[in-house]
Amino acid sequence: MNNSADSRAIDNSDDQPNVNARRRNLLKSAMTAALVGSGMGAASLMAPSASAASTPARLKNLVGPISTNNTIPAVGYAVYASDQPMRAFKFLRRPVGPKDVAIEIQYCGVCHSDIHTGLGHWGPQKLPLITGHELAGVVVAVGGSVSRYRVGDRVGVGCMVDSCGVCSECTVGFEQFCTKGTTWTYGSPTSDPTGVTQGGYSNVAVVKEHFVISVPDNIELAAAGPIMCSAVTVYSPLRHWDVRPDSKIGIVGLGGLGHIAVKLAKAMGAKVIVLTTSSDKVADAKKFGASDVIVNYDKASMDKYSRSLDFILDTVPYKHEMDPLVSLLKRDATLCLVGVGKADEPNQLAPITNVLARNSFAGSLIGSIRETQDVIDFCSQHNISPEVNLIPIQQINSAWREVIDKKARYRFVIDMTSLKKEI
Ligand SMILES: [Zn+2]
Ligand SMILES: [Zn+2]
Repeated sequence: MNNSADSRAIDNSDDQPNVNARRRNLLKSAMTAALVGSGMGAASLMAPSASAASTPARLKNLVGPISTNNTIPAVGYAVYASDQPMRAFKFLRRPVGPKDVAIEIQYCGVCHSDIHTGLGHWGPQKLPLITGHELAGVVVAVGGSVSRYRVGDRVGVGCMVDSCGVCSECTVGFEQFCTKGTTWTYGSPTSDPTGVTQGGYSNVAVVKEHFVISVPDNIELAAAGPIMCSAVTVYSPLRHWDVRPDSKIGIVGLGGLGHIAVKLAKAMGAKVIVLTTSSDKVADAKKFGASDVIVNYDKASMDKYSRSLDFILDTVPYKHEMDPLVSLLKRDATLCLVGVGKADEPNQLAPITNVLARNSFAGSLIGSIRETQDVIDFCSQHNISPEVNLIPIQQINSAWREVIDKKARYRFVIDMTSLKKEI
C-alpha cells in the first residue's frame, strides 16, 4: 500500500484548531515537498473545500452513538482457547471518563506479539482475550477534560493504554518502562468491565488521551496501525543507538518489523545490510532500501562484512543463531534484539561471542508515546509507509498461520468494516 495523500483529510487540517500548530506546519512543509516531488501542486490540495468542511471524518458507522455515562457495547474477535480459532466476542467498554477518548477502530494491524500472547507463548492469559495493538481510527467521543482531540480526528493507539504517570520512568516519558507496571493494550488487569484490557481486533476503544497518537493527514489510516507498534519498536533503538548518515547497520529478519526498519534506517541516511532466511525476499529488501542482503549466513557474505557494522537490529521473534551476527559488529558496537520469542525457547550466545571485540548485546521494548508520535511524523515527512495487506476479520485465523509460517508480505491489517456482519 502506498500512502498517497487523502485530499479530504488534508482539507480537514484547517478544521482542527486543536492540532499542534508546529506539527501542522511541519507536516504541511513535508507534504508540500512530497507533492512537489511527485509532480503534484500542493496548493490545490491544501485549499479547503465545502464538501470536506461538512464531512470532517470518514465515519464507517462501526459503533453507534456513545453516551459518556454508560458502558459501550463492543464486538471483536477473541481467543477463547489457544487450540481453537478466534471468533466473535461481544463485550462492554468502560464509559468515557473525563480524560478518555473513544475511538471507532477502522483498522488494526496483526503483530507477532498478538500470536505469542494469544497462543500462551508468554504465559497464561485471562480468556476470552481480544488481541491487537496497532489501532487506527476516528475519534467518536471525548471526555470533558480532553484538550488535544475532538470528534472526527484521525488517531492511533499502540501497545500501551495506561501507566502510573508519576514514577521515575513515567515522569521522564518512558511509559513502557513504568516501574508500577505499564497497562498494555490487551491482557493487562483493569477495572474495565471484562477485567483485562481488550485489544484492537474490535470496533471501538476507550483510551486515555495521553496514550492516543495523532495521525498526520498524509498517512492513510490503514497504514497508520502498524506504525503504532512495528515502526516505533524499530525506530526507538535506531534513534537510541544513534543511527545516522554514514552508519552501516544490519537488520536481521524482513518481516513486519524488519521491513519498516529498513525503510526508516534508509531515510535516516544509513547503509543497510539485511540478513534473512528467505531467499525470495532479496528483491524486496533492496526495494525497501537495503544495499545488500545476506541469506542464511552465506559464508562469503559473512566474511565480507566481518567486523564492519556499527549496529545490528535483530527483529526475529523466534529462537535463532546469534553468534554469527555479533561477528559482524565493529569493536564496541551493539546488537539490539527487539524480536521476542517463546519464553521457554531462549536465544543463546557462546561465552566468547561478546568478548572478542568488546561488543554489547542489548534489548529494546517498543517505544514511548513521544517516540510513537515522532515516528509517525517521521513517516509523514519521509513518505514512508508499511507494506499493508488488508484482510477481513473473518480471515484472522489463517492470517496468524501465515505469519507463523513466514508467508506474510509484510503486515496484515484488519479492515474493521468486516465486523459489521458480527454486530
Ligand atoms: Zn506489536
Ligand atoms: Zn509509571
